[in-house]
Amino acid sequence: MRKPGLSQFSWRKETKMFSEFYPSADKEVRSILKNVKSPSEEKVKDILEKSKTESLDLPEIAELLETRGDQSFEMMRDFTLENFRGPEGNELRNISPIYLSSHCIDKCGYCQFSASRTDTQRTRLSLNQLEREVLSVIDEGNNVIEFTLATDPDFTPGKLAEYVNKTKKILGDRKGSGVLLCSDYLTEEDYKNLKEAGLWGIIQWDETLDRSKYEKWHGQSPRKKNFEERMDNHDRAAKSGLESATGVLFGLSDFRYDVLMQIAKARHLHNEYGKRPFVFGTPRLKPIGGKEMHPIDEVDDRKYETALMVYKIAEPDVARWLQTREMPELNFRNMLDGDVYTYRCGEVKPGGYQVNKSTVNSLKGGQFGVNEMERIDFEEKLKKTNFSVNYSWIGGD
Ligand code: SF4
Repeated sequence: MRKPGLSQFSWRKETKMFSEFYPSADKEVRSILKNVKSPSEEKVKDILEKSKTESLDLPEIAELLETRGDQSFEMMRDFTLENFRGPEGNELRNISPIYLSSHCIDKCGYCQFSASRTDTQRTRLSLNQLEREVLSVIDEGNNVIEFTLATDPDFTPGKLAEYVNKTKKILGDRKGSGVLLCSDYLTEEDYKNLKEAGLWGIIQWDETLDRSKYEKWHGQSPRKKNFEERMDNHDRAAKSGLESATGVLFGLSDFRYDVLMQIAKARHLHNEYGKRPFVFGTPRLKPIGGKEMHPIDEVDDRKYETALMVYKIAEPDVARWLQTREMPELNFRNMLDGDVYTYRCGEVKPGGYQVNKSTVNSLKGGQFGVNEMERIDFEEKLKKTNFSVNYSWIGGD
C-alpha cells in the first residue's frame, strides 16, 4: 500500500483563510478546465505512476477527471484497487448520523427541509429524545456519532454544546467513541466552546465553490447565502483544534471544477494548519419527497466514480465517505482501505432510529432519498469482501 506523501507544512503564526486564496484558486481552476484535453492512455499511465511518489499538480488532476475512454477509466480503477485496497485487512470506519432538527430558515431547492416546503413534517429532538436516539445507536454497536441539523435558530451554539456534552457523557469511556457536528457555520469561539464540551470535529459540505452556481442555489437563503463566511468555516474549526470533513454536493456545478477546488481546499488546510480534512464527503443530488431531480450539471455514475478515484489518487491521506444516498453495490465496488462508511442514517430525519418512528413519515419528514441497510445485512454483505468495519475509530491511526 502506498505511503503518505511528504508533508509540505511549515509552521507559521499568521494563517490565511481560504477566502483569501479563493480568487486565485478559482481563476487557476477555470483556466485549467478551459484548456484541458482528454489524455491518451499513455498519459494516464504516466500521471498514475507519478502519483505514487509525488503530489500531482492541478492540471494533471484535471486530465484524470477528463478521461473519456473505457480503457483509461479501467486503468484508474485497477490503479486505485491495487494501491489502496489490500488482499486482506482493509477497514472501513463507520459514522452514524443523528438528526437533531428539520426546522430550517434556509431554502435550498434540493432539500426537503427547505423553509419553502410547506408540506414537510418537521421535528426537533429534546434532550430526552436525544438520549433515546444515542442509546439506540450505541445499542447497535456504533460509537462515532454525527449530529446533523438544518439551520434552526432554536439550536444556538450553547444548546449544541449541551447536546454534545450529554452525548459524550452517554458514550462515557467507550474507547474510540466521538461526536461530530454538521451544522450552520459558526464562529471560532463557538467551535472552541464546542471542543471543550467534547466535540471531535466538524462536517461541512461546501455544496459548490462555483460562486455563480452557489448563488443560484442559495441566494434566497438568509444564512446560507453568505458564501465567504461558509467557505472559511473549515479554517475556523481548524484554528479551534477540531478535525474537519469537506466536500461538495455533486450535481450543483461542473463536477471537475468541484473536485479541483476541494483538492485545493484540502491542500490549503494542510499548508495553513498542518492537517488535511479526514475525509471528502461525496454526496450527490438525490430525489426529495420521492421526486427525482435532473439539474443541468447532473453527475452520472461514470463521472461520480471518476471523482471518487481522483480524490484518492490526488490526496491519498484523505478518506472518501461512502454513504446511504448511493446504492450499496456502487459503494462496495468503490470502497478502499480507510474509507468512511454509513450504512444507516436514521432515515435522515430527527428521531429516525427510534423516537417518533411511527409519527414522522420518511418521505415527508426525511431530508432526501436514502438506501439504508440493517447492520446484520451490511456485515453479511461485507463478509464476501476483504473488508471489516471499525465502529469506534476516533483517536486511532
Ligand atoms: S440543505 Fe441544510 S440549509 Fe439547506 S434547506 Fe436543507 S437543511 Fe436547510
